[in-house]
Amino acid sequence: MANEQAASVTESGETAVFDAVIVGAGFAGLYMLHRLRGLGMSAKVYEAGGGVGGTWFWNRYPGARCDVESLQYSYSFSDALEQEWQWTERYASQPEIERYLNHVADRFELREDIQFETRVIAMTFNEDAKRWSIRTDRGDRTTARFCVMATGCLSTAKTPDLQGIDAFQGDTYHTGHWPAEGVDFTGRRVGVIGTGSSAIQCIPYLARQASHLFVFQRTPNFSVPAHNGPLSPQLLEDWKANRVRYRQRDRASHFGIRIELNRKSALGAQPEERQREYDARWCDGGFAMLGAFADIILNREANETAAEFVRSKIRAIVRDPAVAEKLTPKDYPFATKRLCVDTDYYATFNRDNVTLIDVRATPIREVTSTGVRTVRGEYALDSIVCATGFDAMTGALHRIDIRGRGGVSLQQHWSGGPRTYLGITIAGFPNLFTITGPGSPSVLSNMVLSIEQHVEWISDCISYLRNRKLASIEAAVEAEDAWVAHVNDVTSYTLFPFANSWYVGANIPGKPRVFMPYVGGVGVYRRKCDAVATQGYQGFVLRS
Ligand SMILES: Cc1cc2nc3c(=O)[nH]c(=O)nc-3n(C[C@H](O)[C@H](O)[C@H](O)COP(=O)(O)OP(=O)(O)OC[C@H]3O[C@@H](n4cnc5c(N)ncnc54)[C@H](O)[C@@H]3O)c2cc1C
Repeated sequence: MANEQAASVTESGETAVFDAVIVGAGFAGLYMLHRLRGLGMSAKVYEAGGGVGGTWFWNRYPGARCDVESLQYSYSFSDALEQEWQWTERYASQPEIERYLNHVADRFELREDIQFETRVIAMTFNEDAKRWSIRTDRGDRTTARFCVMATGCLSTAKTPDLQGIDAFQGDTYHTGHWPAEGVDFTGRRVGVIGTGSSAIQCIPYLARQASHLFVFQRTPNFSVPAHNGPLSPQLLEDWKANRVRYRQRDRASHFGIRIELNRKSALGAQPEERQREYDARWCDGGFAMLGAFADIILNREANETAAEFVRSKIRAIVRDPAVAEKLTPKDYPFATKRLCVDTDYYATFNRDNVTLIDVRATPIREVTSTGVRTVRGEYALDSIVCATGFDAMTGALHRIDIRGRGGVSLQQHWSGGPRTYLGITIAGFPNLFTITGPGSPSVLSNMVLSIEQHVEWISDCISYLRNRKLASIEAAVEAEDAWVAHVNDVTSYTLFPFANSWYVGANIPGKPRVFMPYVGGVGVYRRKCDAVATQGYQGFVLRS
């Protein structure tokens, strides 16, 4: 396989030829481009947005920030990059992360190979040529030996299916498509629909601006405090000096982040010991709670002790007992929906200008031209903010007409839910890779760490093919079946299946109920991926 000649012909009817096409220019697409360039390959990135950053380009709502700590939620592949970049806060805000990704794009001179404001709409595998043909909404036609889907797990915003929403005369926003120029809600009556991670981040900010904020909640979420703040010079220095060791530790961990995992059972601990442990982790902030006891996510009774601890915190923070009661999650286990990390979320409901509406008890009937009408009455609004999340993990892939061997579409192959081998490849779709795809730790992990692992695995794989003059790699059906069975098997030992979460696609009507990420942990998972590679890509069919 020689380095395919790169041609920059677009919109003219001619076909551009590349070794690889990468779809998406977030954390995943940028690093993938850098690695493929390092192999001396020609690659083209198509990005629907007008700039780099992916998640951090689109989600500009007030309060948007990472909930994995900045020092860990960043690339580790370049020592120079780590030494020169200064994170300012424990959890970086959206503008800071977007600046960082722009810095990466400039530092590694990536922009010239990225075509912005261009959406890939179709990809077809040509079996004779063993190449993919790619079409975009701008009329580009490209062929490539390899396609890497860096399309993101949370990049396809889900809008609420509310009758009359188009007739609303005020402004409507989605947190996942926030206007670049920002929005000033001063003096406005604002309604927020949804109470997931994005809502929990932006509600305290909106409440400080709006004349009145109405929060329409269907399902209350568990949220833990971030305890965000500036990073001390000592901490930064320590990180820079010991980064190799810290990164190594994170790669071998369960979630890809620094959490002290307590090996004890919550049920084996005395009530006072449990309380001490939960209190310490609440004070530490962020995802520390996840490691409080070994059986929290495995045993219902153990989980209930953590759930009850968080519920007691909600009752202590929120002054009105009726509001506290509405904010308290009761009908699914703790941390089986994405655990939210907040700054002042629960306390915001103590403000006089904030009203919580439980739309389970009083469902929304319709959006009128002037507000939202529930079965109990109408709330007059100037603005509606939809914080209604994403068609997670499969949404962006399904919006492209991807056709593999025999013209079979990805839609068909995944009609019963996503099926992959290792979360990176799909049987019947040769030379196509999915970064942080379903069946990999992905959204249950520090995603930047998982992205790096996939990018490196994919580039090693491509290099292996090239060195052996092989034209294609494709997951064997049996390997895919076995991996899907393994992913389901591991999930079945946990409490995750008990929640109607976006992890199982429950937020999208008609989406097959399949638990999509791999819960085995990033350390275990990495070892499995490495073993497959060192055994000559076991479970794959390689063709010359
Ligand atoms: C508000 C928010 C906060 C988050 N915080 C964290 C966190 O703290 N820790 C964590 O681990 N994860 C977090 N995540 C998850 C986050 O998505 C990942 O961490 C990471 O940014 C994903 O990078 P990516 O490059 O894989 O995908 P993305 O950043 O989603 O980028 C994908 C890009 O692909 C483009 N694209 C998609 N389809 C097409 C197409 N057909 N044609 C062209 N372009 C296309 C999109 O426009 C997008 O720009 C958060 C997500 C959100 C929404």
